[in-house]
Amino acid sequence: MPQHTLPRPICGHCDGFPQVAITTGQTKPDGERKTITADCPACRGTGHTLPARAYARTGA
Ligand SMILES: [Zn+2]
Repeated sequence: MPQHTLPRPICGHCDGFPQVAITTGQTKPDGERKTITADCPACRGTGHTLPARAYARTGA
């Protein structure tokens, strides 16, 4: 993967891919696969980590 300098750090939890489509194994009547989308819980679907100052200090 090419490394680019980004204005904000990429979320280490999802590696910058905050939304994943999960197939449910079911198909819609038109034959399309039914998927659900899950957002990364760490960055809430933004793909970037928040600035440290945006976090309340938890000691973690
Ligand atoms: Zn993330």
